[in-house]
Amino acid sequence: MSFGKRPPPDKHTAFYYDFSPREMWYFLFGKKVCPRCGGKLIRRKSYETIHGHMPYKDHADRISPRKVKHYVYTYCCTACGTSFSLADLAKKK
Ligand SMILES: [Zn+2]
Repeated sequence: MSFGKRPPPDKHTAFYYDFSPREMWYFLFGKKVCPRCGGKLIRRKSYETIHGHMPYKDHADRISPRKVKHYVYTYCCTACGTSFSLADLAKKK
């Protein structure tokens, strides 16, 4: 959904979040409750680095695709310890 450039260039050259509208909704307003046991979910932010693959073609000419930081949110249940991706939880509704 959003995209930005980020110096310094010898680290990650760019980052992005790829929330679908549904995921964005869940992220902002969804009830953070475990689908299995009803426990409370804690949000964790992590990222993966994408090498040589640029998800947005229209930015490919402006930003080096060598190292792109892709932020991923996961939710971990405090009761049963199961972790869910934001995509999983957004689909549940
Ligand atoms: Zn649980």
